[in-house]
Amino acid sequence: MVTENAAVAAANAADKPDQDSFVCYFEGGYVPLGDARISIMTHAFLYGTGVFEGIRAYWNPEQKQLYALRVQEHIVRLRNSCKIMLMADVPSVEDFSNIVLEVLRRNNFREDAYCRPSVYKSTKAIGVRLHGLSHDFYVLGVPFGDYIDTEKGIAVGTVSWRRVSDTAIPARSKITGSYVNPAFSKTEAMLNGFEEAIVLTQDGHVAEGSAENLFMVRDGVLITPAVSDEILEGITRAGIIELAEHLGIKVKERSIDRTELYIADEVFLCGTGAQISPVSSVDHRPVGDGRVGPVARLIGKTYFDAVRGRLPEFRHWVTPVYKSE
Ligand code: PMP
Repeated sequence: MVTENAAVAAANAADKPDQDSFVCYFEGGYVPLGDARISIMTHAFLYGTGVFEGIRAYWNPEQKQLYALRVQEHIVRLRNSCKIMLMADVPSVEDFSNIVLEVLRRNNFREDAYCRPSVYKSTKAIGVRLHGLSHDFYVLGVPFGDYIDTEKGIAVGTVSWRRVSDTAIPARSKITGSYVNPAFSKTEAMLNGFEEAIVLTQDGHVAEGSAENLFMVRDGVLITPAVSDEILEGITRAGIIELAEHLGIKVKERSIDRTELYIADEVFLCGTGAQISPVSSVDHRPVGDGRVGPVARLIGKTYFDAVRGRLPEFRHWVTPVYKSE
């Protein structure tokens, strides 16, 4: 039985922003979100030939500051996705990052927010291909809270769908059309009563969640699938590896079998949207004793302090959006 949990509520809130009250960047200028419209003939709409990023910004109430998280890293990955999709001529990392920060600034967000830059094939044409098409881009921003639970631990289930392989659609780029695959996975998991999916690679190894990378803890070592295991090269994943090194926790990148998750001491998912989301059970088997374990708790706490600009060691992760008052 599926109820309206935090994930559904957050997704619905993001689905129905009060469009007139938000400003976005669209094809060369800042306009109300409701005025940013594309033709139904747009190639990216017809064939899913766009790339995108999801960037979070965190409100720090003590400092009255909004911190945008890992903006440059997201723009570097976006530009890599563009390269893979034969979209040259995109703004520099600096120029693109400045547009993201300006969208947040113009919306004057004083709460947690989500920014989506997207570059997409803008030619109005029937005909499936990548080459010989023009492209354009937008950056939108909306308020955004938790996407999935980050406190009590979630129940996850392995789904029957497989992660789209790098031999079919490039795994390391965020291509809009490829998100039909995680949509199938997430919905199968949720309709089966789980909160999130575990998705396997074609050869049966653990890849990731529907939109999250995965870590497990065995014998005190943090283990995560390697970047050649059909995963998105997650920015949160890289951040956790950095955090773990800072905290003195050993990290190993290697393939993970499904049943290793059944006997792991801890499992957690991570991503820009999901943040750090401890897993309490996998395929109805409790992880450890079913409670949030010490490694996930420590990493979670450190992560949430870092993203709100509270840890000097991790200030390089965040960019203040507003001038200090
Ligand atoms: N895997 C997939 C398929 C995703 O969509 C995301 C979200 N971008 C992630 C993993 C996590 O990546 P990141 O930490 O960069 O948000």
